[in-house]
Amino acid sequence: MSNSVDEVPIKDQATIKRFLAYVWPHKLLTIVAIVGMIGYAAVDTFFFAQLQPLVDDSLQTGDYDYLRIAAYAIVPLFLLRGVFNFLGTYSLEYLGTKVVMRMRQELFDKYIHLPISFHDNHSTGSLMSKILYDTEQVRNAAGRALLTLVREGMFVIGLLAVMFYHSWQLSLIFLLIGPLVGIIVSVVSKRFRQVSRAIQAAMGSLTTSIEQAVKGHKVVLMFDGQKLESDRFEEKNNHNRQQTMKLVSAQILSVSTIQVIASIALAVVLFVSSIPDFIKELTPGVFLNVVVCMVMLLKPLKQLTTVNTEFQKGMTACASVFAILDQDSERDTGTKTMDRAIGKVRFDKVNFTYTGKTTPALKDICFEALPGQTIALVGRSGSGKSTLSSLLTRFYEPNAGTIYLDDMNINELSLRSLRRQFALVSQQVQLFNDTIANNIAYGKQDSVTRSQILEAADIANVTSFVEMQEQGFDTLIGENGLMLSGGQRQRIAIARAILSDAPILILDEATSALDTESEKSIQSALEQLQKTRTSIVVAHRLSTIENANCILVMEQGEIVEKGTHAELLKSNGIYAQLHALQFSSESK
Ligand code: ADP
Repeated sequence: MSNSVDEVPIKDQATIKRFLAYVWPHKLLTIVAIVGMIGYAAVDTFFFAQLQPLVDDSLQTGDYDYLRIAAYAIVPLFLLRGVFNFLGTYSLEYLGTKVVMRMRQELFDKYIHLPISFHDNHSTGSLMSKILYDTEQVRNAAGRALLTLVREGMFVIGLLAVMFYHSWQLSLIFLLIGPLVGIIVSVVSKRFRQVSRAIQAAMGSLTTSIEQAVKGHKVVLMFDGQKLESDRFEEKNNHNRQQTMKLVSAQILSVSTIQVIASIALAVVLFVSSIPDFIKELTPGVFLNVVVCMVMLLKPLKQLTTVNTEFQKGMTACASVFAILDQDSERDTGTKTMDRAIGKVRFDKVNFTYTGKTTPALKDICFEALPGQTIALVGRSGSGKSTLSSLLTRFYEPNAGTIYLDDMNINELSLRSLRRQFALVSQQVQLFNDTIANNIAYGKQDSVTRSQILEAADIANVTSFVEMQEQGFDTLIGENGLMLSGGQRQRIAIARAILSDAPILILDEATSALDTESEKSIQSALEQLQKTRTSIVVAHRLSTIENANCILVMEQGEIVEKGTHAELLKSNGIYAQLHALQFSSESK
């Protein structure tokens, strides 16, 4: 048990240290901020230090010069206070927003460098919540919490100094409560950390359920899932609220407890002052000044305890941000580069199991594609066809066996060099919120000309539907291409592949969303491309792969049959059965 208790502070310290590294580049600004805050607290302390002379030297003696000087001084003093306030608050908020911006950027950059397996296991909602919500929590630590910590902290010190100057005996009584406050703060802060973590998780699951319902809106409508989704959301929404309330009650309780303890100290002070021997030594000004300072202390003390909440929230959020930043990016140990592959691909006894799964997705895969050949993958869904193509682009790495490109182990190639060799068209077409031309040229905007884009678009039959748009190729596609049909999106993806001019094509159900007519015209364009490129084709419609140099029939991760269309038909195995099945259904 002692271990786990010991570990927490060390981890927290590391988090704080790492957080401070974000602040360090802005140290000058931090100093300005601190000077501003100290100045602000000093002006306030100065005001309260004036009570005793005001009462004892001016009001009681009838010397009104003091009041006149005060009248002249008060506006400039407030002006000065305003300047200090601006310096302190502005600099710290600037610092906070800078830190948030850097963290957001780092998280975003991390997201786009993490391996696919990471994204397989994390919902988009929770990842978005980290960038949007968690970093904002960090800002509270960087900005607001530090502001209160330094400014109110200095004010507390100032007030204590004034009190001690006037009557150390009374101040000492008040100070005895210090350790008690400390104990409460430390108990409460542990609770804060727990609840903050729970709130962050709740926030993540809230965004996840929003994302699912919004993305799957059509399914929700079709299957009458509104009540189900609404109930599910209500549960999470309520859970989030409950966690927030836990935080609020911890906050309220801690504030009230501290105030009650402080009031006990105040009562003791008043009681002691009532002892005749003691009061004799106190002038009215000193007594008033000490008591007012004590009352004034309550507010900053209260704020200092809530600062802790903010700071703990911020540090919990920091820890969750750092946990992501510490994830290993996609491994790119390959050092060799390749300009343009000739296009020979070979799988040698490749085995692969997804993390967290027990049954392998690929078992002992061996095959070879010579430059310019077309290899077709056929099999039931879930038989491992997409996994095979994912391994080729190193989205995942084999557990055993080797994949060669032009006789070079693909692990030796840098990821950039490797992926440049492939053009991938898959079932799910990802389009970006940009113009059609930029979507076709995605990733190559700087190196291709407009006419090259138009040429690729022509071949992929994109031009016909783009010309109907008012702005042609400069038409903006809505987010994820919402205003395009599945077939149109697929044609854009094909144009993208044509333009990329990679030596190896991976077509994973590339024409599945096309109607028969556009499929025919694109099929001929693709066949044209395939002539000069090595192609790995995953196809359901067997008619599209009859001309393949080799057809691999897959079942449960294994290649169970291998050969040309004619050979496989002749051997009368699984392929022949599939073919007969499709042929009979197509001829109906
Ligand atoms: P196919 O493309 O032939 O339909 P896949 O290659 O997509 O088949 O899937 C092969 C097997 O691997 C299936 O059992 C599937 O459940 C599993 N699988 C696919 N993707 C993942 C993933 N990201 N994580 C875990 N298992 C997966």
